[in-house]
Amino acid sequence: MIYKNNIFWWSRDNKGKTVRYICKGKNKYKCPAAIVVNNDLKEIIYESEKPHNHVPITDAQIKTYLAFQNLKRALKAIQQIV
Ligand SMILES: [Zn+2]
Repeated sequence: MIYKNNIFWWSRDNKGKTVRYICKGKNKYKCPAAIVVNNDLKEIIYESEKPHNHVPITDAQIKTYLAFQNLKRALKAIQQIV
C-alpha cells in the first residue's frame, strides 16, 4: 500500500483485525518506518515515530507502481482462466 508517498509492504496480521506494513525501503536502506492499518476501516491506526531514512517517491513513480500492480493482477487473473 502507499502512504504519504512511500510504498509499504505487508508484514504481518496482528490479532484484532489490524495489519502491520513495513516500508519498502527496509531491505535497501534498513528504513525503520512502519504503519499499522485497521483492515476493516482501511485506516492508519499507528505510524511509527521513526521517520523514513530515504526520500519518498514522486507522484509519477506512484502512478507507475500502481499501473504495474494492476498489470500483475490482470496477468494473474488471466492465468487462472487459462
Ligand atoms: Zn521508508
